[in-house]
Order: sequence, then C-alpha cells, then structure tokens
Amino acid sequence: MSHQETVSIVGLGQMGAALARAYIDAGHRVTVWNRSPGKAEPFQGQANVAATPEQACSASDLTIISLSNYEASDQVFRTPLVAAAARGRTLVQLTSGTPGDARSGAAWASSLGIDYLDGCILAYPSYIGGEQTAVFYSGPKDLYERHQPTLRVLGGATSHVGEPIGAAAALDCALLGSYYGATLAFLHGAAICASEKFPLDAYFEKFQTILPLTSITADMCKRMLSTGDFKGTDCTLDIHTNAIEHIVRLSRENDVDRRLPELVLSYFKRALQLGHGADEIAAVFNALQDPARG
Ligand code: NAP
Repeated sequence: MSHQETVSIVGLGQMGAALARAYIDAGHRVTVWNRSPGKAEPFQGQANVAATPEQACSASDLTIISLSNYEASDQVFRTPLVAAAARGRTLVQLTSGTPGDARSGAAWASSLGIDYLDGCILAYPSYIGGEQTAVFYSGPKDLYERHQPTLRVLGGATSHVGEPIGAAAALDCALLGSYYGATLAFLHGAAICASEKFPLDAYFEKFQTILPLTSITADMCKRMLSTGDFKGTDCTLDIHTNAIEHIVRLSRENDVDRRLPELVLSYFKRALQLGHGADEIAAVFNALQDPARG
C-alpha cells in the first residue's frame, strides 16, 4: 500500500491513547472517539475528534477498538448506526477477551459485511511503537497482510498467529496466565524475604538469576510434551516436591500466606500419585490434565 491508511481509535484509555499517539507520531490521519469526552481533549489539534463511534468508523479505512472488555465493545459497536458506518471497512479488535469472544465478534462482523481481525497486545502502553513490542493478530491472513504496514506501527514484533479468529486470544490467555502466575509467585517470594528481613532490593536483583532457569524449563517442557517422555537426568519430581514442601513449611512458620505454594504442591503431589516421582518437572502437565482434578 503506497499511501498511509487513515486510522480511527475507539477508546482512549491508557492503551487506546498510546495507540492513537503512535499513529499520530507516524504521520497517519487519525480520528479518535472516547465515551467520556475529557480523554479526547489532549488530541484536539492532532487528531479529528469524532462526536460518535459511527463518525469514528466512517472517518477511516481501519478502526481499532481498545475498550475495557467485550461487553463495552458490544455496547458501542452492536448498533445499527455503527454497523452501517463500518460496513465495507476493517475493524481491528484489540480489546482483550477469550477466543469465544473473538469468534462472536467475527460472526457479528461477517454477517454485516465488515472485515475483522482480532489481536492482543503483549506490552504496557509506554512500549507501544517499540521494536520489541509484540502484537499478535488472528483472522484472514490476506486481510492482515493488506493492513500489515499500518498494524506494524504499534510494534516491531507484530505477527499473524493463525487464521482461526480465536488464535490470538488463546495465545494471549496462555501467555498472560504465565505472566500473572509468575508475578504472584515472585511477590510471594518478596513476602518470604520480608518475613526473614532479607532486603527486598537484593531479592529483586537476584530474581534475574532464576529467569534463565524458567526459560530452560520451558524448552524442556516443549520437548517433553511433544514426545510424552518425561525421563531425564536433571531433577526428579520427588526432589522438586521436597523443595516446595520447604517453601510451604517456611510460609507456615513465618505466617506468610501459603495458599500459592500449597496449590503448587498439590499438583506436584498428584503427579507423584500418577507415578512420575522419577520424572522431570514437565510431567506435572499430566496432573493438570488429570480427570480426577477439582
Ligand atoms: P482503561 O484505561 O481502563 O480504559 C478503558 C476504556 O474503555 C476507556 O476508554 C473507557 O471509556 C472505555 N469504556 C469502558 N466501558 C465502556 C462502555 N461501556 N462504553 C464505552 N466505553 C467504555 O483500560 P486500558 O488499559 O486502556 O485497556 C484497554 C484494553 O487494552 C483492555 O482490553 C486491556 O485488557 C487491553 N490491554 C491493556 C494493556 C495495558 O497495559 N493497559 C496491555 C495489553 C492490553 P471512559 O474513559 O469513558 O471510561
């Protein structure tokens, strides 16, 4: 595409405002709309400020949606006026949701002749536009490729992750689940350090030393889950389980919340019951798949 596409941003929360800013900085003609007009004020003079979402949709080739959730998106978009304004144009849904939400959005769009991509942003707003910033899209590959130069403005690590419209949301939920689990775990580690008066600065500095181990373990899990063979020579589940028991015991002794390590321990113990005591840590996957769970 030789010319720069016109872009509308619907939703100027923390993320939507960063998306709008990136397109303005890249020289696109931008239109913005936000439910509360105050958030559009800073864009006066740099972007067209639409009075309604349908004005925003009809102003541009491509409209990006960044609202709190799909419920908000449905309230704004599923009206006859907005549907008529978006017909024959492209909507890019960057509101976070589930694969089911994405499928529902795509079915609605397709029934109205609207082109539709679903995406997820793996970054904080201040990183939008960065070379390393990852934004994943799913939906028709030719539609993605047609808009790729515009979509790439938001991040250098932009990619298409699958034709099924739910692919980006599935990947987002999987990666964010790891992120939130890891964040709670390292905050629990901080609580342990605080309970022993170990300096938190030193803890967070040393935290970096565990990151390569997480990456090595993810590689090991990738290999072992593809073969179903959990045999190895690094560390048995019996030994890992002992380590988690220490963490539970210390949490109990120091009156630190122990629900997280107890939950982790329950999965490791279930994997031991399933006969994986001599296997590597990847075998805990089978405890997650266990029909007897919950
Ligand atoms: P936010 O700052 O809370 O902004 C929420 C936006 O949704 C505001 O523009 C708000 O409008 C609008 N909104 C909520 N309910 C609405 C409704 N019923 N009708 C119309 N507008 C409504 O949230 P955010 O951080 O920008 O997040 C936006 C999306 O980006 C979310 O899906 C989030 O998961 C995703 N995301 C965020 C980040 C991040 O780091 N912030 C990272 C990746 C993905 P008002 O101003 O009128 O309230």
